[in-house]
Amino acid sequence: FQTIIFEKESKDELQQMGLVFNKMIQRLKENQYKQQQFVSDASHELKTPITVIESYANLLKRRDISDPKMQKQAAESIHHEALRMKRLTSQLLDIAALDEQDILPNEQLEIVGFCEKIAHIFTETKNRFVHVDSIKKEIIAFTNREKIEQVIIILLDNAIKYSKGDVAIYIDQNDKGPIMISVEDEGIGIPKKDLPYVFDRFYRVDSSRSRETGGSGLGLSIARELLHSLGGKISITSEENKGTSVKVTL
Ligand code: ADP
Repeated sequence: FQTIIFEKESKDELQQMGLVFNKMIQRLKENQYKQQQFVSDASHELKTPITVIESYANLLKRRDISDPKMQKQAAESIHHEALRMKRLTSQLLDIAALDEQDILPNEQLEIVGFCEKIAHIFTETKNRFVHVDSIKKEIIAFTNREKIEQVIIILLDNAIKYSKGDVAIYIDQNDKGPIMISVEDEGIGIPKKDLPYVFDRFYRVDSSRSRETGGSGLGLSIARELLHSLGGKISITSEENKGTSVKVTL
């Protein structure tokens, strides 16, 4: 009788181990597929500016191009695409560094003054006013300064890229509960059908529009991963031609 029970238990165990093993293999396969997809998307994104640069450089090399207007346009396009590539490679390096950043220590950070500092730098360097409003004068978070800074910069960059007017950061906290930081703009907004995908890597609502603004579709996905590593959350609400609000919860 004992033997029968033993055999039954080990059969169940074996079956369970098999299930776990199958799940692990499936997950590994999914990760491998995602990685391959990422490399192929990244190569595609880099190929486009390289092709533009190559054709304009070829045009400039031709001796019969003496029209200064055309030369200027070619030089400007090369410059524009080179900047896009620079931004894209720096974002790809950010993604590669995400794993290493997991070991960055947390520290006490006063969020209101911190946001004001970043807003001030944006107002000075980008020539667009970034307004900061908070429910309290001081809000202390226990988090990683570099990661939060990177997230806020990504959100402000987007707010400025996709709107024309002022941009605002609102900071809120109930008692000593979660801290909410919202970055808001009154810009072009995002169509409803695109909203669920804007956190996906390389997703852009309108690639031609993003090409003009130099977007790569990586910013929000980096912000989401940074926040996940901090145990935080990010969400977005938007209305076309009205504006966008991205809320970070810490
Ligand atoms: P990108 O580098 O293209 O801005 P993101 O991942 O940061 O990439 O954003 C993904 C897409 O979401 C953008 O291409 C843009 O279409 C849309 N988007 C993000 N933020 C805003 C915003 N504040 N207003 C309007 N559209 C936005």
